[in-house]
Amino acid sequence: MIIVSACLAGCECRYDGKSNEIPEIKQLVLENKALALCPEVLGGLGTPRISCEIVQVNNELKVIDQDKNDYTSQFTKGAEIVINVAKALNCNMVILKANSPSCGYGKIYDGSFTGKHRKGNGLTAELLAKNGVQIRNEVNFHSLLDNEK
Ligand code: SF4
Repeated sequence: MIIVSACLAGCECRYDGKSNEIPEIKQLVLENKALALCPEVLGGLGTPRISCEIVQVNNELKVIDQDKNDYTSQFTKGAEIVINVAKALNCNMVILKANSPSCGYGKIYDGSFTGKHRKGNGLTAELLAKNGVQIRNEVNFHSLLDNEK
């Protein structure tokens, strides 16, 4: 089983109430080959919700909105739920939305709320990677599926 970011499967669970639907990824879910999860919703946040980015405060990573309200606990809870589901399903590959403070892998928004990026992982991607799960995004996921054939 593959886990995919729910917004890539067409769920309107983005912070702005929209999706990032990729038809091939939605099709995987419709064929029961993939499970769609949104860590931010699983962490207890509503949709739409305030946009958040990851910043470093005193050597600690925090997830905050532009007014510096702290949502780290909700993002952390969502990440923990996703890794628990992944372990329960023996899932060793995921397709996650690029750049997100939860799902981004390798590159995320830089915390300035200006649309700029920096190297780093979203909280869910980080936890999955630490547990040995292969991670792709909506651009490079084809190679992951090819390996499965
Ligand atoms: Fe999509 Fe992940 Fe953001 Fe949910 S947390 S909307 S699945 S990128």
